[in-house]
Amino acid sequence: MKNIVIFGAPGSGKGTQSDLLISKYGFKHISTGDVLRAEIKAGTELGKTAQSYIDDGHLIPDALMIEILAHKYDELCPCEGLIFDGFPRTVPQAEALKAMLAERGTAVSAMLELAVPEAELMERLILRGQTSGRADDNEETIKKRLGVYLNQTAPLIEWYEKEGLRHAINGSGTLESINAALCNVIDSL
Ligand code: AMP
Repeated sequence: MKNIVIFGAPGSGKGTQSDLLISKYGFKHISTGDVLRAEIKAGTELGKTAQSYIDDGHLIPDALMIEILAHKYDELCPCEGLIFDGFPRTVPQAEALKAMLAERGTAVSAMLELAVPEAELMERLILRGQTSGRADDNEETIKKRLGVYLNQTAPLIEWYEKEGLRHAINGSGTLESINAALCNVIDSL
């Protein structure tokens, strides 16, 4: 089974590229952001808790996120392959993912990092905000989310490098060229 972590800053194209990979390989997909937005829409207790963090551009606490992830994973797997999109976002989440997969006799196969310059991320997110309807795609929250990414999530680049799992992909080209680069890595696994 292939467990692929698609990694990058907000606006780096994780969701778009995940969709392309899912249709090509038939992998399952866990987007923790989508899971949380569905809970908010359904008005659940979890959704209520998550909303204030998301609207403020902060991360949901690790313990809660890890529980949600394990639950979702067991709902979808065993399966041929799975894409983790938006998880892990902190070092404790990466450690928990490693332990959770080990308990299930599997492991992360690759971390695919979509590298995009910060100015381009800002531009993309502001543009996305005009059509996404996402409350957190406004300039003030975007700046906070990028700050959270740099402080809490970017350290995972080194973490996965040390694990020997990191593959950096230039996330600035066309959808097709980025997708081809991702597929090259996946096909080599
Ligand atoms: P996303 O759709 O991946 O950009 O996620 C939107 C928001 O959901 C983030 O800004 C966080 O508030 C929250 N979120 C999503 N995934 C995680 C995670 N793995 N850990 C903590 N918070 C998360």
